[in-house]
Amino acid sequence: MTYFAYDVRSIKNFIFESLEFKSIIGASYLVRKFDERIKEDIGKIDSIECIYTGGGTGIFKMKDRNKKSEVERIFLETKEKFFKDHDVVYTFVDEDEVKESSKDDFENLDGMDEIGNFAKLYSKVAFKLNVEKEKFRESQEKLLENVCPLCGEREATETLRRPSEGAIQVCPLCKMKYDAFYERHENEKGKSTQLSDYAESKSSSNNRDSESTSGYLGIVYCDGNSLGNIYKEFKTAEDFKTFSDALDKFVGEWVEKIVENNDFLAPILGGDDILIFGKPSKLIEAIRNFNDYLKQKRADVSNELTFSIGAAVIPMTLPLRFIFDVVTDLQKETKKLRHRLSEEVGKEKSSFIAFRYLNSFDLEPVNVEKCLKFGAGMKLEDFLSLYQKIEKYAKDKKVKRSTIQKIYDAILGETIDEDINIYGAKIAVMYFLSREENELSYKDIEDISQDILKLSKSEEYEKEKLEVFPIFMELFSYYEDFLKEGESK
Ligand SMILES: [Zn+2]
Repeated sequence: MTYFAYDVRSIKNFIFESLEFKSIIGASYLVRKFDERIKEDIGKIDSIECIYTGGGTGIFKMKDRNKKSEVERIFLETKEKFFKDHDVVYTFVDEDEVKESSKDDFENLDGMDEIGNFAKLYSKVAFKLNVEKEKFRESQEKLLENVCPLCGEREATETLRRPSEGAIQVCPLCKMKYDAFYERHENEKGKSTQLSDYAESKSSSNNRDSESTSGYLGIVYCDGNSLGNIYKEFKTAEDFKTFSDALDKFVGEWVEKIVENNDFLAPILGGDDILIFGKPSKLIEAIRNFNDYLKQKRADVSNELTFSIGAAVIPMTLPLRFIFDVVTDLQKETKKLRHRLSEEVGKEKSSFIAFRYLNSFDLEPVNVEKCLKFGAGMKLEDFLSLYQKIEKYAKDKKVKRSTIQKIYDAILGETIDEDINIYGAKIAVMYFLSREENELSYKDIEDISQDILKLSKSEEYEKEKLEVFPIFMELFSYYEDFLKEGESK
């Protein structure tokens, strides 16, 4: 038996290479169409069986190894149609190769004997695809005469006529992505073609700065944790297929539900990756919905399935590529925290999230200011219950934004060393809460201080840094700016 597999090299670059929103959505549509076409055209060759295609990757089982050249020809033709010069690597793996492999080939999977047969094969496939990807990296940078303004990567040789913004010269790939956007749009009537339709201004703001007029976007990026641990159990191609199909269904159904009301858009990233961007006022609702959905449906995929989530509210004037990088950085923080907890307390079965509400003066997603750490990860359940409390405090007017601001200023105003700063922060929290106009009871003050400071005392979070107060502060501002007094749209 021989296997054929392919993988789009850095699919996120392919999708986010262009700064234009339509090209981004169009690019993700091209990936989907490519997978569908390959599945159909290679899958219909006699004696070849498609195991899986999706998210720019695919794997096929070939009973007849003489079909290699036919597969290769179809693959390369189709690749040219959908990706032009963007690299899509492919490889063939014979079962014999896997038998001859040394233990070192499976170094990323521990306990060779316990690894299922298909897991070994799959690991070999991944290894060979990576070797192909490495080759590409060595290629030289090209000198361009007339650089495409959308991607800055290729020669602009095509004329792109845009309905409202006029014509420009772009590269063939950007034009193809743009056309794909409109093709997708034709098939999905009722979806907006303007990113600005998804942006929202702050409801509480009376500033006329550019952010309050052009608005903010909410963005959520979810990525499955340690799928390798699930893969290594696979004994047959059928195990892999069942899992991949279930995961696709899990992701697909949720995304479909979340984009239904036109509050969000979802470029397709594939596999366990989910990216949505849209109305800030719907962001936390979407995250809560994801948490509920995960609890309900996880068992259909695997009980081991958990996610790392980066979420942010960001001025829409920034390039989408940057916005995506912000949530990617936040997601990395959650992975770090998860790793730390797994080392300390063993297997971790929670999902994690890191959240930021950024403005154009503060664009560092993960940032330490004195004893405050911005962009820290926390358990998804903790995050949602913290938000619920903040919502309540804001509604009951138990805490005012100005009080939070005063606490923040007091903490940063300290010039002494960091340990004392945390202590100082605690005093500041108690002090400013006790001075609230509506005179909080001592119990209220204690409860609220706990919500701000409690979690950071726990072993789970980074010691010597207040990680929850920045989240509290930004969630509070987020609530006031986008959800206060039923002003959500
Ligand atoms: Zn281009």
